[in-house]
Amino acid sequence: MHVWKFGGTSVGKPERMHSIRNLITGDDTRKIVVLSALSGSTNALLAIGESLKANNDDEANRQIDTLKAHYDSFISDLYKTAEGKAAGQQIVDNEFSFIRSLTRIKPFTLKQEKELVAEGELLSTQIFQAYLAEEGVPSTLLPALEFMRIDADNEPEIQYTEQRLAEMLPQHDDKQIIVTQGFICRNPRGEVDNLKRGGSDYTASLIGGAIRAEEIQIWTDIDGMHNNDPRIVKNTFPVRELTFDEAAELAYFGAKILHPSTITPARMFGVPVRLKNTMDPAAPGTLIADRTSDQVFKAVAAKDGITALYIHSTRMLNAYGFLRRIFEIFEKYKTPVDMLATSEVSVSVTIDNTERIQEISEELSTFCNLEEPDYDQTIICIVGNFSADNEGVAVRVFNAMKNIPIRMISYGGTESNLSLLVHSRYKAHALNALNDGLFSL
Ligand code: ADP
Ligand code: ASP
Ligand code: MG
Repeated sequence: MHVWKFGGTSVGKPERMHSIRNLITGDDTRKIVVLSALSGSTNALLAIGESLKANNDDEANRQIDTLKAHYDSFISDLYKTAEGKAAGQQIVDNEFSFIRSLTRIKPFTLKQEKELVAEGELLSTQIFQAYLAEEGVPSTLLPALEFMRIDADNEPEIQYTEQRLAEMLPQHDDKQIIVTQGFICRNPRGEVDNLKRGGSDYTASLIGGAIRAEEIQIWTDIDGMHNNDPRIVKNTFPVRELTFDEAAELAYFGAKILHPSTITPARMFGVPVRLKNTMDPAAPGTLIADRTSDQVFKAVAAKDGITALYIHSTRMLNAYGFLRRIFEIFEKYKTPVDMLATSEVSVSVTIDNTERIQEISEELSTFCNLEEPDYDQTIICIVGNFSADNEGVAVRVFNAMKNIPIRMISYGGTESNLSLLVHSRYKAHALNALNDGLFSL
């Protein structure tokens, strides 16, 4: 079985839904089809939530009217028959009446916000499955809220998904296409929750891992993972093959084409991930699996919103246990550290979640001197084949970066990553300079 995920732009127009219907029925493979919300819907729903939080109900109702008008016109173009149009209208009317009911709950809390934002995927999947039914394609809709769950640390519980799908899927053996929602899940309180922005990729990989799929395909609006961020750098090109490790580094360090955690479940169960372009299905895209080319530099990505902390030892020169004490504090406050650099008397680390920075700093101050944190930093992650006997890797990177101030460097943690920390104002410059220095012929 395959798992195919289509992102917002791939389902964002009626004609796109027509083409993905052709794509998913183009061969005999049985598929779980994971859909995102129509492009723009998640942002629109979050904006409605903001108005409700600010008690601006009139504005929220206007925003809901605009969004509903969009869906009304979408379904009138999507379906051909009167029955199809009536079924689509019923779905839209039901979901929008639920959205309206949320505006009457006071106060509007995070729980309601999560129910509101889930409507994007609930709408797109029902609309699409009704379209498949109109077209006579044997399909069913499997509610993600019945098999996707996160734990108290917001981590997906893949064993639960495995067990639930083992119970649910055999009931639909006669269906070639099984449609489900990306992004949404339940939390340990049984409430509606989600896997964070861009989370439909992660859903696809979690399902792919849970059912040991033959392949996971992520269909989007570009022909695979490019060697650099195409929104910032001209002349980027698709990378045909990546290992799980290389792709995981790129996704985690900012390549927006994949949610940061997408690769983890696929790697755990060895399920290959293929990135494909809905607008150009014949393009080969990128295959993420065990093998890769021996090319030295593969790709560059950048992750913004990073904060660097500079921690000096007060009295523990040469002391063992110093690093342990530091990292216990980050562990206690559930704050992951991304980059690390050490000298004899100090340690610098970067974090992207600053929610607990106050408490972390206070505890560190009991045995360290801290400098003011540096906010607005960017990690530039260079991925490639940097095995220990590969000469000249660092020199090429530093040559490319010769006019850009670097705050931190991390190299040697794995054989596939070299990371640099720069102020975010230098991000575009750095990505372009690295493109010229590492990839131009
Ligand atoms: P979807 O809605 O299908 O999930 P996304 O917008 O989340 O699509 O991801 C696709 C976009 O990711 C591309 O249009 C591209 O602008 C952006 N992107 C950023 N970095 C890369 C990269 N290295 N390779 C390919 N696309 C990238
Ligand atoms: N619809 C969600 C978002 O916009 C999830 C996704 O598209 O992957 O973030
Ligand atoms: Mg995405």
